[in-house]
Amino acid sequence: MYSTTFLDLPALAQAQGTVSLPGSKSISNRVLLLAALSQGTTVVHDLLDSDDTRVMLQALQQLGCAVEPAAIVPGQPVRITGLSGRLPAGASARLFMGNAGTAMRPLTAALSVLGGDFQLSGVPRMHERPIGDLVDALRQLGCRIDYLGNPGFPPLHIQPPDFSALQDQPIQVRGDVSSQFLTSLLMALPLLAATRDIRIEVVGELISKPYIHITLELLARFGIAVHNEDWQRFTIPAGSHYRSPGEIHVEADASSASYFIALGAIAADSAEGVRILGVGQDSIQGDIRFIEAARAMGAEVEGGPNWLRIRRGAWPLKAISLDCNHIPDAAMTLATMALYADGTTTLSNIASWRVKETDRIAAMTLELRKLGAVVEEGADYIRITPPATGADWHAASIHTYDDHRVAMCFSLAAFNPAGLPVRIEDPKCVAKTFPDYFEALFSVCATAREHIPVICIDGPTASGKGTIAAEVAQALGYHLLDSGALYRLTGLAASRAGMELDEAHSAQIAALARELPVRFDAEQRIWLGNEDVTLALRSEESGMNASRVSALPAVREALMDLQLSFQQLPGLVADGRDMGTVIFPHAPLKVYLSASAACRAERRHKQLISKGIAANIDALRADLEARDARDMNRSVAPLKPAQDSLLLDSSALSIEEVAAQVLAWWQERRPFGRG
Ligand code: C5P
Repeated sequence: MYSTTFLDLPALAQAQGTVSLPGSKSISNRVLLLAALSQGTTVVHDLLDSDDTRVMLQALQQLGCAVEPAAIVPGQPVRITGLSGRLPAGASARLFMGNAGTAMRPLTAALSVLGGDFQLSGVPRMHERPIGDLVDALRQLGCRIDYLGNPGFPPLHIQPPDFSALQDQPIQVRGDVSSQFLTSLLMALPLLAATRDIRIEVVGELISKPYIHITLELLARFGIAVHNEDWQRFTIPAGSHYRSPGEIHVEADASSASYFIALGAIAADSAEGVRILGVGQDSIQGDIRFIEAARAMGAEVEGGPNWLRIRRGAWPLKAISLDCNHIPDAAMTLATMALYADGTTTLSNIASWRVKETDRIAAMTLELRKLGAVVEEGADYIRITPPATGADWHAASIHTYDDHRVAMCFSLAAFNPAGLPVRIEDPKCVAKTFPDYFEALFSVCATAREHIPVICIDGPTASGKGTIAAEVAQALGYHLLDSGALYRLTGLAASRAGMELDEAHSAQIAALARELPVRFDAEQRIWLGNEDVTLALRSEESGMNASRVSALPAVREALMDLQLSFQQLPGLVADGRDMGTVIFPHAPLKVYLSASAACRAERRHKQLISKGIAANIDALRADLEARDARDMNRSVAPLKPAQDSLLLDSSALSIEEVAAQVLAWWQERRPFGRG
């Protein structure tokens, strides 16, 4: 997951390959609650690991459900032992729901029926999301729910219910604000259906029927057969009780699939296309009907029970006018597909967008306009005309409003014909449903090498290049190339093999360099085969050996391809001696970092001492001056600033100041203004 302040997507050109999608949020949280209410243990496969499911799991544990393992482990099922429809007498808890509507609403209903003393709260946005219609419906039954803040909104205080006045007349609930209210009732009220039919009546037109369809399908899996009369009246028959199905698989999220379906339609100009695993055309999720809309715009989609394959068909895409009531979430993806259409696209009947994670109509309007589209916004529709020509596209920094779908659908703007990068602010908001969305996107996308930015940080030994490069890479979410480590590894491997590190053995050492079994892991450790050599590489001897092998032209040549292979989406920060002069001569930012010899010797001394390695400051200084001299005077790729590099003397600066300066220079070179 990218936890950076922003993520710059380079202009993207093609897409092909396979993505496995994470489990559906809607299905995951319903399954968790149903398992918790059931009798018996449920083994849940392919559960989504996201903010919403974590919130739900945490709440269920607080309520006394056994959950194993306690946190979601990729590839492992979660075992939930249910409460058999009862909470212990006197149960009480304060539950924090974050911004998880799929936990807040159903838990409110279930807890106010189960009985106990609970407080439910969330992030400020959660306290702006309406829940009054659900509370009103529950109060008709005798549930006791009070508002702790604004009437009609969380936070809530729930106390044990009084069902003494429970009548046979149907419980009424509004269906035109959020279908989650009805879903919540449908999941809570089987708890009251032991001896009587429970009837629910929808007031107003029911929106988002597909989500009710998911609820009904899953209720059936847990032993509750709801009678559905025309989406207006629902009856839970007397004698219903929750039974665990034993095992259940969570389908991949059809809304998440929409981004890759769109990607295929926009960018998969190849026979292979984009393949999606985890969800197929027979999905129980309503958003699977996004496929029809994508086809109408020109996508070629084929699929089986658990997979889809998408290729580009019509190009440019065809503009459409569509009532999107049946695909409220996936319809946002149509709004960014509309950027590539041959005319004006109208998406209507989307009033529910206004009460989602953010006001999505307003958000989409504002952000699409930043890209150069002409957008008209209405109370319940959005109308999008793409930028007229390539020249009308703008490089934009997309604000994402803590809304995962805004972030994901705007990534598609990176295919703009102007070749402009797109900045996605707060990329980690995708964690709500798809923490590794951008990784998945990059894994199937390709672009010309020159579009993938490289920041070079060269300079003499102990000038702080490595530290700064790592900081800058971290801040931008870019890959990191510590090229010195490759020379150090080569020196280590060669001396272990008993080779003299001189010209006479140049060919042998180069052969070793070409085959180095090197791996850099996510914790910045360096592996040579199965050995962690991180520490061994930092010794002064290893630095000297590196300096010797690096003066051999054949070795430099041998390490060339390996270094180039680090230039991958979304970008690279490379540090060394010749990053800007030889390896990445076209890099858009080159920094030459220096510091006085005295200062560098002191820093290196501190560094070694802190690692428990004994060192003498004068000897260190002599060593590094010798190394600099060799690096500067060698015949190939001598250490020197590239002509177009910016010089930075860090002698009097802190690490934070140097990194901030490099990032400021980078920002100036980006087309997004002050960001
Ligand atoms: O940067 P570091 O101290 O790890 O580099 C070790 C040695 O590797 C340097 O002294 C230099 O001789 C060599 N090197 C190089 N070209 C690079 C990076 C390092 O010649 N791009």
